Amino acid sequence: MDNRIETICVQGGYRPGSGEPRQVPIIQSTTYKYDSSEEMGRLFDLEAEGYFYSRLQNPTCDHIARKIAQLEGGAAAMLTSSGQAANFYAVFNIASCGDHVVASSSIYGGTYNLFAVTMKKMGVEFTFVSPDCTPQELDAAFRPNTKAVFGETIANPALTVLDIEKFAAAAHRRGVPLIVDNTFATPILCRPLAWGADIVTHSTTKYMDGHAAALGGCVVDGGRFDWMAHSDKFPGLCTPDESYHGVIYAERFGGEGAFIQKATAQLMRDFGSMMSPQSAFILNLGLESLHVRMARHCENAQAIAEFLQSHPKIAWVRYSGLAGDPYFQLARKYLPNGSCGVVSFGVKGGRQAAETFMARLKLGTIATHVADARTCCLHPASSTHRQMNDAELAAAGVPADLVRLSVGLESREDLMEDLAQALDGV
Ligand SMILES: *Cc1c(COP(=O)(O)O)cnc(C)c1O
Repeated sequence: MDNRIETICVQGGYRPGSGEPRQVPIIQSTTYKYDSSEEMGRLFDLEAEGYFYSRLQNPTCDHIARKIAQLEGGAAAMLTSSGQAANFYAVFNIASCGDHVVASSSIYGGTYNLFAVTMKKMGVEFTFVSPDCTPQELDAAFRPNTKAVFGETIANPALTVLDIEKFAAAAHRRGVPLIVDNTFATPILCRPLAWGADIVTHSTTKYMDGHAAALGGCVVDGGRFDWMAHSDKFPGLCTPDESYHGVIYAERFGGEGAFIQKATAQLMRDFGSMMSPQSAFILNLGLESLHVRMARHCENAQAIAEFLQSHPKIAWVRYSGLAGDPYFQLARKYLPNGSCGVVSFGVKGGRQAAETFMARLKLGTIATHVADARTCCLHPASSTHRQMNDAELAAAGVPADLVRLSVGLESREDLMEDLAQALDGV
């Protein structure tokens, strides 16, 4: 019997046996002991399951990865040290030097930099398309060497909503998977795999942890993409890996296990971007209340978006839960339970007014963070997105006057009073 999502938040991923710890144990050990070299050799040949070195896998992390896989309705998952590592692993696991990826232009600034600068240096090329492009425009972005399509369910910070079915259809027509970064929506608000996405990534640093306590990421594989049917495109999964005695991941581990097995065996082995078991434990405390917190984040943000929209000193508000928002219809389809806690808006008077407003806030602190219990705000053009010029900012849907407000779990009346007094001073 499949449990409902609230039950998975609380109890998923870990089932203690009789007399075992009720809470997930923190296995604070880099190594694991075996009785014979043969036993250990079988692990190195990927012929047996087990742990031998925490750079690749740790039991605490695996319990929590399993919970997130269940939350997303996926087949397998792995934790990473950050959201950046998760997106890098998800893409680099199937696209390497000489390959090409189609990505939505409306994505997190760090991911944009990873793709457009760092992965470009590694020989992977990206074509960025507007999330609002027509199916024809999307199709025209593909090349013979395209290996994946990438987008964010709710983009950080532009708050565009991805038409997951449109992007999935385009990817599948070309025989490649759709990777969706579901950080802002979380599986509580949207499960991209159910709409046709193949791989889901997270910065667990955000709502999943929810308390700004532990950095982390996660990659979830839906397990349904048929790598072998497109074996010419995915030699890494469909031809022998000489570094593991010729294992063919898609054969040995099947559609359900191949993607995460390969990412663990190769990328985690070689890059080691592993989450610490301490961080995984903290992440799990956040996951236990994710369903309760997301509902309140959404309620608070909806009320504050409506308050800002009616305020004379506010130039514009972007929140897909507002009836006039360009993404309202897509949000009704993909985010029926709420549009997360992040609202963006422009203060009349532009850049300078935005900075004055932010300095006057008492509850909403200025922080390079988003999606946690405490309300915080950010001016992307002067911080997270400062590497982008005005044209790139516009293409990414982040105008220079944009203030990103991450609405927390405080009293919404207190928050509105704080916003009102800060706006009075502008
Ligand atoms: C923050 C964020 C990331 C990067 O995650 P880190 O945990 O900071 O490395 C990736 N994608 C989205 C949508 C984010 O908000």
